[in-house]
Amino acid sequence: MKMLHCPVCGSTEVWTITGGYTGCLYHCKRCGYRGALVVEYDEEPDDRPQ
Ligand SMILES: [Zn+2]
Repeated sequence: MKMLHCPVCGSTEVWTITGGYTGCLYHCKRCGYRGALVVEYDEEPDDRPQ
């Protein structure tokens, strides 16, 4: 499962807004950020090599 993080405030309260010309947009509930850029984390620990 992937966790979405806001690139501005780091909150996980990021909602996906689908549809439209741009495809996928994200909206942060905490700081109000809205954009196509978001930070994704895999919840599995030690999954990716450094
Ligand atoms: Zn935010």
